[in-house]
Amino acid sequence: MCGIIGIVGQEKAIDRIYPGLLALQHRGQDAAGAVTFEHGFQLKKGNGLVLNVFNPKNIERLTGNIGIGHVRYPTVGAGSAEDAQPFIITAPYGIALAHNGNLVNFFDLKKTLIENDLRYLNSNCDAEVMLNLLSVELNKMNPKRLTPEKVFTALGKVYKRLIGSYAVVSIIANRGFLAFRDKNGIKPLVFGRNGSTYCFASESVALDLLGYNEMRDVKPGEAVFIDADNNCHIKQIQKGKGAACIFEYVYFARPDSIIDGIGVYESRLRLGEELGKECSKRGLKPDVVMPIPDTARGAAQMVAEVLGTKHREGLIKNRYIHRTFIMPTQSERIEAVRLKLNPIRSEIAGKKVLLVDDSIVRGNTSREIISLIRSVGAREVYYALYSPPLRFPCVYGIDMQTRGEFVARDKTVEQIKESIDADALVYQTIKGLVKGVGEGARGFCTACFTGSYPTEIPPLLLERIEADRMLAKVSDS
Ligand code: SF4
Repeated sequence: MCGIIGIVGQEKAIDRIYPGLLALQHRGQDAAGAVTFEHGFQLKKGNGLVLNVFNPKNIERLTGNIGIGHVRYPTVGAGSAEDAQPFIITAPYGIALAHNGNLVNFFDLKKTLIENDLRYLNSNCDAEVMLNLLSVELNKMNPKRLTPEKVFTALGKVYKRLIGSYAVVSIIANRGFLAFRDKNGIKPLVFGRNGSTYCFASESVALDLLGYNEMRDVKPGEAVFIDADNNCHIKQIQKGKGAACIFEYVYFARPDSIIDGIGVYESRLRLGEELGKECSKRGLKPDVVMPIPDTARGAAQMVAEVLGTKHREGLIKNRYIHRTFIMPTQSERIEAVRLKLNPIRSEIAGKKVLLVDDSIVRGNTSREIISLIRSVGAREVYYALYSPPLRFPCVYGIDMQTRGEFVARDKTVEQIKESIDADALVYQTIKGLVKGVGEGARGFCTACFTGSYPTEIPPLLLERIEADRMLAKVSDS
């Protein structure tokens, strides 16, 4: 998962890109970057948090009223500084591009670009592949008269070659700004207008912060081109089935964001309501319901409401330790759990505690938290998840595909309960998940829970993931 932002028509675009990237920091803490355009491209990118990569001196040189920015969690790329985004190409036109997602045919595309189009690729990042494909297709147009229709025609040819998820922002030097989203809309992309300036971002929270209104999502398969005179052109490039990543609502997105018309906070409340019903069916009678902070807060409140019991904070989070799930190695993750949560003994001792969490990926975090709760005198510890068991790799850009083991991959719910040492374990159902997020609103990708992928999957990809998974398992052990 990554975060992207694009600003058009603002006097100094970086003045908005920088705070926008801070608002999107939760989507990736591995690298950050931005490029602006004025007579030429000015680029700054590097590994680390937004606050570490940018400083007043390098921000000063990012001039121009058009720009794009990116925060990264590594997917296809190995995580080196060369893989940080945005990427730039100088001919034809000069194009800069940043994306969120993952091309499942990345390796095939890279090979074709090198062998057939004689392109030299400098990174292992699929954004560079996309940038070169766009450049190849735009090169076939008349460079002197690049109309919006020609941009969309070139883009149509690019779409035909891409398989996977992508939400993209790009600058075509002196010609305009281009944003587009894959035909299934797997990754989010929203845009807004304020007077004659536009802002595009992965989540609406960035637009809220920057004062953009008249907001709407870039629809699945849609492209938006803002020309050099600030006119906005929109075209449906491809039609798909509509398969927005449901995990955005479960975990990734900030609760104050609205994605594809669905408020993330409201969806988490509804997920809690559905989970509460599951807990009730199972006859759970806790003395107190507690969230695993921060993501599960809304859901835990609703679980308590449905069960008619108390809702309390029992774990206090050190806000200066980053989200554990998106830390790159297993050893760092385990360390982070101990560092980041501390129990409130008075709320826990002698009680039957129901902990509510968003999901279990590997089980290590859950086991440690349960052990922590027991260590301060809980009588019984129940664990409830407002998403179903994660069993299948995500091939669309989420760090669940190679780095370690899903605890639910080859275990029953009873076995998982044993392995995390809970007195009871309750999962959300698939039906409850879709209903909770917003049944009927549109289609969702639920592949990591169901194994049903919304795109074609090259047969070798799953084998490659399996091999990487085994390697990760060995290196974690
Ligand atoms: S597989 Fe899961 S995490 Fe990946 S895009 Fe689909 S719902 Fe999201």
